[in-house]
Amino acid sequence: MLHLAIVPLLALLADTPQTRPNIIFFLSDDHACNAVGAYGSVINETPHIDRLAKEGATFDRAFCSNGICAPSRAAFLTGVHGYINGVENNSHKFDGTQPTIATQLNDAGYTTAMIGKWHLKTDPVGFDYWDILPGQGHYYAPDFRTKDGKRRVQGHVSEITADLALDWLKNKRDPQKPFMLMMNQKAPHRAWMPAPEHLDMFEGELIPEPPSLLDDHEGRGTAAKEQEMEIADHMWLWYDLKIDPDEGTPLTGPDRWAKGRYDRMSDAQAQAWKEAYDPRNEAFDEADLEGDDLTRYKYQRYIKDYLRCVAGVDDSVGRVLDWLDENDLTDNTIVIYASDQGFFLGEQGWYDKRFMNDPALRLPLIVRWPGVTKPGSRIDAMTQNIDLMPTLCAAGGAAVPERVQGEDLRPLLEGETPEDWRDAIYYRYIEQGVHNVAPHEGVRTDRYALIHWPTHGEWELFDLETDPQEVRNVHDDPAFADVRSRMHDALDKVRTIYAAPSMSGS
Ligand code: CA
Repeated sequence: MLHLAIVPLLALLADTPQTRPNIIFFLSDDHACNAVGAYGSVINETPHIDRLAKEGATFDRAFCSNGICAPSRAAFLTGVHGYINGVENNSHKFDGTQPTIATQLNDAGYTTAMIGKWHLKTDPVGFDYWDILPGQGHYYAPDFRTKDGKRRVQGHVSEITADLALDWLKNKRDPQKPFMLMMNQKAPHRAWMPAPEHLDMFEGELIPEPPSLLDDHEGRGTAAKEQEMEIADHMWLWYDLKIDPDEGTPLTGPDRWAKGRYDRMSDAQAQAWKEAYDPRNEAFDEADLEGDDLTRYKYQRYIKDYLRCVAGVDDSVGRVLDWLDENDLTDNTIVIYASDQGFFLGEQGWYDKRFMNDPALRLPLIVRWPGVTKPGSRIDAMTQNIDLMPTLCAAGGAAVPERVQGEDLRPLLEGETPEDWRDAIYYRYIEQGVHNVAPHEGVRTDRYALIHWPTHGEWELFDLETDPQEVRNVHDDPAFADVRSRMHDALDKVRTIYAAPSMSGS
């Protein structure tokens, strides 16, 4: 009965955790580089995420393929652009039969889990275990859903998501296999509702404003002038800024949804909010602000709640990193911190994302891979969300499907940039209606961004070196004729490389 002895030995060889790294992928929602300490934030600190940067590699030019939640998540998972994986806007349903990070690693012998915000409408495939927020999810008393059904969990979503991730790591995974965990935080997505313990952070401080907070968009094209994502004009007092209406005031817009969110709080949570926000709201009433003063005030209210939510995300990362340390797993675990895309933190006067400008286009991407990444290293090669899929499949010994458009980041992580590494990325946004941002596509190189607005028949060109806030479109400036020509060629090239279908109007 020789085979009885051989089979367990082969199984052991195939799945020895020591030879294949575990993987923890933290994916947050709308976390801009400008709110990450490791990216030089001047407005907050993120000690746990920064620890990853100190011990690993930080990508300075990592970009999304499409600056909204679902399309970016689908691109991270599949390694291909949205027009190939089928998710180009937030209402598209993800086709779970296609290969993803999870299906490939699961097939290769990994035990896999997805915890938190999924946002792809169909059930996760390739995960042995999943526990997800339906849709966007709630900050307080969020519903979570597994294959066995939905339940409500008391508490704040950032802490609960970490609780559930740690519970899977401790109690639910197959300890005989290497693991891959995706922990997807909802925060700091709108409407920025911090946990009770963070409500007083930054109070009494003045958060620095971005230089373009009061920009009038005169230097930009039509799309920037017609959008509806201004801090000044498109924020809702209750829903966004936590300034509750007087009794009997008719509610309009998103303010109509605000009450349902507050009603989910426990009495203690509601009391903590009342104690924190009532004095601020009374002071706001008394101040009777107008014009730029009101915009500046709204920025302070918005950015502080956003940063309080970031603090909750950072804490959750710290808890999982501590658990790895305590269980001697740090040295054999790849840890990734990323966001689905960036966010405008007042640049150009905006909140939200969508526009192919750096605050939204760029995303934080930090990788700690002991034995591969050099501690504290910075990587300036052009990278994109589609690169994570092939990178993690290769790291785990899983097959990388032929169709994958991303590149294995491993040479960059080892400190070598291959000579033929890409010099430009392709971006494409087609959602219509939300915040009135027109569809656009474009190309970003290390210095320039060229954006095509087919519905307006317009182009924008930005020189990020001389105009880092991207408020001056130089597309038709004769001084940029050569750059313009090169960037149009670059756009044609990336459209070809990434097999992009033509956008209407182009
Ligand atoms: Ca997002």
